[in-house]
Amino acid sequence: MANFYLDTPELKHHLNHPLMKRIVELKERNYVEKATFDYAPVDFEDAMDSYDKVLEIVGEICGDIVAPNAEGVDHEGPVCADGRVSYASGTVANLDACRKAGLMGMAMPRRFGGLNFPITPYIMAADIVSRCDAGFENLWGLQDCAETIYEFANEDQKQRYITRVCQGETMSMDLTEPDAGSDLQAVMLKASYSEKDQCWYLNGVKRFITNGDADIHLVLARSEEGTHDGRGLSMFIYDKRNGGVTVRRIENKMGIKGSPTCELVYKNAKAELCGDRKLGLIKYVMALMNGARLGIAAQSVGISQAAYNEALAYAKDRKQFGKAIIEFPAVSEMLSLMKAKLDASRTLLYETARFVDVYKALDDIAKDRKLTPEERAEQKTFAKLADSFTPLGKGMGSEFANQNAYDCIQIHGGSGFMKDYACERLYRDARITSIYEGTTQLQVVAAIRYVTTGAYQARIKEYEAMAVSPELEGLKNRLKEMASKYSACVAQVVETKDQELLDFCARRLVEMASHLIMGHLLLQDASANDLFTESAHVYVRYAEAEVEKHFNFIRKFDKDDLAYYRK
Ligand SMILES: Cc1cc2nc3c(=O)[nH]c(=O)nc-3n(C[C@H](O)[C@H](O)[C@H](O)COP(=O)(O)OP(=O)(O)OC[C@H]3O[C@@H](n4cnc5c(N)ncnc54)[C@H](O)[C@@H]3O)c2cc1C
Repeated sequence: MANFYLDTPELKHHLNHPLMKRIVELKERNYVEKATFDYAPVDFEDAMDSYDKVLEIVGEICGDIVAPNAEGVDHEGPVCADGRVSYASGTVANLDACRKAGLMGMAMPRRFGGLNFPITPYIMAADIVSRCDAGFENLWGLQDCAETIYEFANEDQKQRYITRVCQGETMSMDLTEPDAGSDLQAVMLKASYSEKDQCWYLNGVKRFITNGDADIHLVLARSEEGTHDGRGLSMFIYDKRNGGVTVRRIENKMGIKGSPTCELVYKNAKAELCGDRKLGLIKYVMALMNGARLGIAAQSVGISQAAYNEALAYAKDRKQFGKAIIEFPAVSEMLSLMKAKLDASRTLLYETARFVDVYKALDDIAKDRKLTPEERAEQKTFAKLADSFTPLGKGMGSEFANQNAYDCIQIHGGSGFMKDYACERLYRDARITSIYEGTTQLQVVAAIRYVTTGAYQARIKEYEAMAVSPELEGLKNRLKEMASKYSACVAQVVETKDQELLDFCARRLVEMASHLIMGHLLLQDASANDLFTESAHVYVRYAEAEVEKHFNFIRKFDKDDLAYYRK
């Protein structure tokens, strides 16, 4: 009986972070629901205990059902016939197990049938599910579209739709079109209001939609005739029960094969407006995407964990030149770096999740009462931290997942190239993480303003002021030296006031900030828990080399050099 939560003690470390006290306090509001729901917690310890217990169930389902099904799902995949999708048999069994265990709508309020989980333990469940089957995580994880309904829809819509999600119905997020990918302002799917029927109808095509035959869809559509930018777009809820949307085909993909990626045709599909007109892209999709990006960051960490586990097991087992290959420094170095990248991306993931938790819980309280000035300040601080950390978590986490999946194959040698081992599936599955929910380049576009405004530098200073255990002081001093190189690069690029130069150096600057932040977070982890000592040492050394590389590149670069890079 494998348990994918209990066998990874790093997860409990992150769950038990001191900020959870504040998060639970905000989320449970003096534990008022204990009088109404017998499963609502009575105090902080009780709440933490319930997260732990539910994650244990997630770990068990993942170890016993989802992981053993992964290979079969990868081979069988979903099929599309007569405009409808059927999942692979393993996917059906996985969904069934999750429904029975009450793992749908986990973060939704109890009054809709959810568990009222904060984002942090919910994201931990996503991390665990992704380790078994990244494609299945897409289907299960689309439950976080319900968050958008909860935040922006009216009460009647919340009652009708969130309740169904908590009962196990699935969702999709229909944004992309053939001519609108990274640039969602170009969305053209048409929404027209019928005065006669007093409702909206959708017409057009969506492409690359994960779980496109879902029960409930969130759809970005052009409601304002004659407009061509984001201000003409609104968000709609489409209910499959009403009909009007068919699946034209499912894509034949490289990875995450269990997750159907659909081309959808909308023909007079009846839909309901969600929130206000014209705020579809500007407000709602931004919120939806931030949640989904955190989900992909979790998916990436789960894949990194699986890649590390597979590589470690193989390296211990495989013998060459009379000894296990793990004994060769070239192999053990690769494994150490894989573990360091895994721990680094995971600590960034949970730091980000906690930031999201604090500001969202305060946002929710603000729906019922006026926040105090202190609470308003707290909300603002954490919202900004969440916004600035989300692209780092998604961008770096997904790149590390790809690197770890690559190294996992390398450690398997020729066997890694064969279909016989899980590593080739992980390699294929990892590839999408740095593309969807905004490519790594688009994460950089989202993050660069926090480089230029000094927000990352300010946060890094706060980490520098945090105590670490005496034996880690040396590593902290090295991070401080790296921070001055980062600051020098930021100043050099910003002072030119040249947008093209800034865009060109953006990824390097964002990566430098990310390495510093992950380095500090690992020092915090290692100060509290020996589990992270090795990764802290390995990661800071790796980060030092990366920061130095970017420093050298930027220091010797000026705007005239851009000419060599224009195509
Ligand atoms: C398997 C899969 C599942 C998906 N699921 C969904 C889903 O459920 N819902 C949904 O709505 N969409 C979904 N998508 C779509 C996905 O989000 C888009 O593919 C992605 O956002 C990139 O858009 P694109 O493919 O049009 O690439 P493009 O936007 O054409 O990008 C091509 C290249 O140009 C770069 N680029 C573009 N603009 C910029 C810029 N401003 N600065 C720097 N570089 C730039 C990109 O980084 C990339 O390297 C899915 C896609 C796939 C492959």
